[in-house]
Amino acid sequence: MTDRRNELATNLAAVEERISSACAAAGRKREEVTLIVVTKTYPASDVRLLHELGVRNVAENRDQDAAPKAEACSDLDLSWHFVGQLQTNKVRSVASYADVVQSVDRLKLVGALSSAAVKAERELGCLIQVALDADAGTRGERGGVAPDGIDELAAAVAEAPGLRLDGLMTVAPLAGPFAGRQRAAFERMMEFSSSLRAGHPAANMVSAGMSADLEEAVGAGATHVRVGTAVLGVRPRLG
Ligand SMILES: *Cc1c(COP(=O)(O)O)cnc(C)c1O
Repeated sequence: MTDRRNELATNLAAVEERISSACAAAGRKREEVTLIVVTKTYPASDVRLLHELGVRNVAENRDQDAAPKAEACSDLDLSWHFVGQLQTNKVRSVASYADVVQSVDRLKLVGALSSAAVKAERELGCLIQVALDADAGTRGERGGVAPDGIDELAAAVAEAPGLRLDGLMTVAPLAGPFAGRQRAAFERMMEFSSSLRAGHPAANMVSAGMSADLEEAVGAGATHVRVGTAVLGVRPRLG
């Protein structure tokens, strides 16, 4: 356990250094960027160690794993972010522990999340997940709405009881015009964020950047980076 704590502390320090350098290079204040540690596939004991080490934001992508982990860590002051593709039959469970759902990508999900949040008497933060490689009117392979669908979804979230529109999320696309061009992808996201904020000034979160491309995201203006591997290690299986 002590070894694991040291390992996590070392990795966290390295990620912290990367974020600080990226902020400095971009002329941004360190406080402008929040680190969210993606704990998927790793046990609740790791979440506990991360909390001891100062982490306050964690993310999960599968309800089956996240629900028991959040339960096991319910005594800790942590914000739980849900970042995976979300089926409507899991929404009730997710709404019971998640503080922010970052993967809102269709109207049906907005309705389901709203009902569940109202029933649970909780307010759920929502990010619209944008698929930069999706064609107009479709969703991406890894979830996310095509850019032309952002406005409609944002309006629906903003009007839905129990939901709070917090901003946008993206995963840098592996295919399409932005493949291998993370910086350009994240800059495009910042443009979408500007237009979103014109109508919804409080929706100022931009969640972008992971272990491999957090510098590009911070450089472009992301407010939140989601880092798994660089903190916890290479995942034993795809998660
Ligand atoms: C797993 C995951 C991450 C973290 O990815 P790493 O490359 O391990 O840092 C970030 N965002 C989402 C949506 C994920 O599923």
